[in-house]
Amino acid sequence: MPSIDKHVEISLKRTGKKYLEVHEWIDDPANKNARHDINAIPDNFQMFKEKYGEEAAREYVQHLSDDVKGRFGHLLEDFEKEMAAAIKYFGSK
Ligand SMILES: [Zn+2]
Repeated sequence: MPSIDKHVEISLKRTGKKYLEVHEWIDDPANKNARHDINAIPDNFQMFKEKYGEEAAREYVQHLSDDVKGRFGHLLEDFEKEMAAAIKYFGSK
């Protein structure tokens, strides 16, 4: 998963705002799993919208999406490394 700093950087690029409160809330170590639960998106979206406005709510959804992309990116990297090692091991190019 991207770090909070990375999420802030992405938000800043996308919206011109950091939305640090949003990213810190989602990645709060004690509540991390519950707050990344996609079933909670409708309730949390509403909560962020009321508290910080619609753009903040959208950044909340975007955070979850960026986390998933980060995870897939990492999986893909690992997979490519394994494939390269396997190909080398079997002596083909
Ligand atoms: Zn996260």
